[in-house]
Amino acid sequence: MFCFPLEVVFIVYFLPAKKIIVHLMRTRMLSLFLLFVICCAGGGSARTNEAQDYSRKFAALMRSTKAADASAWDRSYLDKSIRDRIRPATPEILEYIEGVNRLDGFAVSTSPMEINAETKRKIAGELEKLPPKVLELIKKRVIGIFTVQNLGGSALTGCAYGKNGSEFGFIILDMNMLNKPANEWITLKENTVFAPETGWKLDIKIENDETNTKESAVVYIFLHELGHIVHDVYKVLPPLAQESKDFSDFEFSGDVWLNELQPRREISFVYQEILAFYGRNPPFSVQIAPEIYRSLEKTPWATLYGATNANDDFAEFFVSYVHGELQNKPYRITVKRNEAIAYTGINGLKRNNAGERYRIIAGIFDRL
Ligand SMILES: [Zn+2]
Repeated sequence: MFCFPLEVVFIVYFLPAKKIIVHLMRTRMLSLFLLFVICCAGGGSARTNEAQDYSRKFAALMRSTKAADASAWDRSYLDKSIRDRIRPATPEILEYIEGVNRLDGFAVSTSPMEINAETKRKIAGELEKLPPKVLELIKKRVIGIFTVQNLGGSALTGCAYGKNGSEFGFIILDMNMLNKPANEWITLKENTVFAPETGWKLDIKIENDETNTKESAVVYIFLHELGHIVHDVYKVLPPLAQESKDFSDFEFSGDVWLNELQPRREISFVYQEILAFYGRNPPFSVQIAPEIYRSLEKTPWATLYGATNANDDFAEFFVSYVHGELQNKPYRITVKRNEAIAYTGINGLKRNNAGERYRIIAGIFDRL
């Protein structure tokens, strides 16, 4: 019989929460062993049920929410300028936010937020610098950009459905959360996955110094949300409001996802199941960040956030394609230990093993 260190035996048999287990990870061997135990413990079927249950509840919410009904919208907004589409959340949008937050277990009270003319001009101006194809897409498919406070996250997207499915979408932005330049914002977001350790530092750079502004952070977040609208309107993945989803039927997800939360067995990224952003307790120590990013390089995902679920996988590919390819902007991850580089890497879209998915996302983009 194998004899494992006491800590391991204790963890495996007595600690119920996976996130507590992983928070204790310090060494590669220990982390891999624990992840092996976690992955063999039947987490897969629980995640399938979790994904199905969420899909069912989300579909029910869509059926009962006015914002999700295309016929309830004033379509003249699709002829307005981007600047005129930016406005405080309406009662219908607040009802949608409340429903999603209830589903996600967030007890927050969101309220509309009026932004001043200068902020609105700056955001619209930054969005208008996007490549013509993306601008055209926004004009056709984003009927409103709604500003709020206390959203429960930085941004949220919804789609409005007609007889043939999703026709256009809307994007909600929490203006109090979007108060950091792009590099600081994405660095903060990525560090919600990693518990800090003395001497260790993880940062991501998505803008050069001269364009590292709050508005460029808003554009990057907006592009991710636009990816969700593209997914739904152009049927890149199962519709967000569909009760039962089969990801195997779709070119983008067929080789990667079994369901919304669970990757196919061939995708070997043992950290995926306990990967979580924005939680109160980061699931991993920053000391194993280099190991995690090296492992991520062998996967089909563009970013670590893209590994969390099938929908965000596409949204991250979409933003990575516009940002990295069409706009030729950087995406550089750096992990340092005592000022020495422990890991440096790029967006997965630029890696050779993303070749097939690169072709797929470029093809989707051509059809928009
Ligand atoms: Zn997303």
